[in-house]
Amino acid sequence: MIENILYTTDGTPFTTGAAILELSYLVAAILFVIGLKLLSHPESARRGNLWAGSGMVLAMITTLLFHRDPEGNRIALTAAAVVIASIAVASVAGWMIAKKVKMTAMPQLVSLFNATGGAASALVALLEFPNVTGTGVILITLLGLSIGSISFSGSMIAFGKLDGRVKDVSGGIMKYVNIILLLLVVALIVLIVTGNTFGASQGMLYALLALTLIYGVLFVLPIGGADMPVVISLLNSFTGIAAAMAGFIYGNQAMILGGILVGAAGMILTLLMCKAMNRSLLNVIIGSFGGGGAAASHEQGTIKEVTVSDAGILMAYSRKVVIVPGYGLAVAQAQHICSELDDLLTGMGVEVKYAIHPVAGRMPGHMNVLLAEADVPYEKLIEMEEINPLLPGTDVVVVIGANDVVNPAAMDDPSSPIYGMPIIKAHEAKNIIVMKRGMGKGYAGIENHLFFNEKTRMLFGNAKDSLQKLVAEIKEL
Ligand code: NDP
Repeated sequence: MIENILYTTDGTPFTTGAAILELSYLVAAILFVIGLKLLSHPESARRGNLWAGSGMVLAMITTLLFHRDPEGNRIALTAAAVVIASIAVASVAGWMIAKKVKMTAMPQLVSLFNATGGAASALVALLEFPNVTGTGVILITLLGLSIGSISFSGSMIAFGKLDGRVKDVSGGIMKYVNIILLLLVVALIVLIVTGNTFGASQGMLYALLALTLIYGVLFVLPIGGADMPVVISLLNSFTGIAAAMAGFIYGNQAMILGGILVGAAGMILTLLMCKAMNRSLLNVIIGSFGGGGAAASHEQGTIKEVTVSDAGILMAYSRKVVIVPGYGLAVAQAQHICSELDDLLTGMGVEVKYAIHPVAGRMPGHMNVLLAEADVPYEKLIEMEEINPLLPGTDVVVVIGANDVVNPAAMDDPSSPIYGMPIIKAHEAKNIIVMKRGMGKGYAGIENHLFFNEKTRMLFGNAKDSLQKLVAEIKEL
């Protein structure tokens, strides 16, 4: 007689319940992929979240209903109750935090989510380590523990830095300390995998946990200047990879697939950001870039202000206007009035475009989301590489609450912490109007000699107020 010829990936016999479970994981994976695809456009991003979220809900429900251990026992009722209660509490807390958080504080929230994901994966690895056998699974468990704890401590420091609670620590010897720490981590992993006495490796396991936690802190601490976005997406990718490793430990397809998708998406974003910021991934991992070196002081010249009336006339009688939105536009919540100014100028025959820098604002795609919210047509948002060649032929560039992303020091000052970062070349336009409240610095904390440029006129004030006055002025013309 042939019994149980089929087995699921975790070794349990292939019953109807197991079949439903495996099938639901496949459906969940498809939902994750559809969700991810929809997330790639601001207009469909909300639906993308719902699709991916429903995949996760499906995987959780079927796991609770159909999961069996290798002896064929279902999840005990008390354990199921604890799981459901934890999910309920966490979901309510997550919902409330996400509802309350301001768009400009989104990176902090993402960092906190990354930290919790990393911690959860590290804890799974730590708790399951005594139960795993086989070199491959032991290695995966140790990698899950290491990557998860780096992601946890690194993300907590990233949160602190983004929130202004943790100050930059300059690079210097930190680079070498980080390389030594990384080598120690690799050595410990090799020792644990090749060692066969569990007692000894248990101690080493905690040493590995401590080392990776310290590495996470030290690798994010020196990163400053304008380089945080790259690190945030790298940590996001780490969290996904750690979750996939935890999925391997449990032989859970949904966790593996979900983790790999987050890990891969995060890694692609990291590489794109590295390219956009002209940085190498190796530099990010060793944690040596950005921050540190103060920019050389420039011959600053004088600041020239412009009145609302003159700014309005200049824009209204231009042929081509390019708006450079930045973090200040988001803080002021001036996207709607900015769109109104655009409509007004367009109605007067002016060609209006937006120059979108990949790290403008405080999260990847921040400006796209902000402007989409104000119904600015997507075709008007032009990426940095495409808009830059058009700027010398642009009559007026209007910089609204942007600073680092238009700072020419990135091109001509090798001592600047943002040197090498590609910028929107606002200084090449025929006229430049900069709207900001005062002479406050941007995220990188450095001077911007664009503000002292011959062609620049400053329109001081809160971006929303200035735009409202401008719109009123232009309507009068
Ligand atoms: P910046 O942070 O460089 O500058 C924003 C400017 O806006 C400030 O100089 C400030 O000047 C002005 N501002 C603030 N509030 C207002 C307001 N209410 N009205 C008008 N102006 C205002 O912004 P950018 O978008 O140019 O650059 C983004 C920076 O953030 C980059 O360095 C980037 O690397 C970093 N970053 C980006 C992330 C991302 O993923 N996009 C994540 C983390 C960091 P003042 O005080 O004088 O008004």
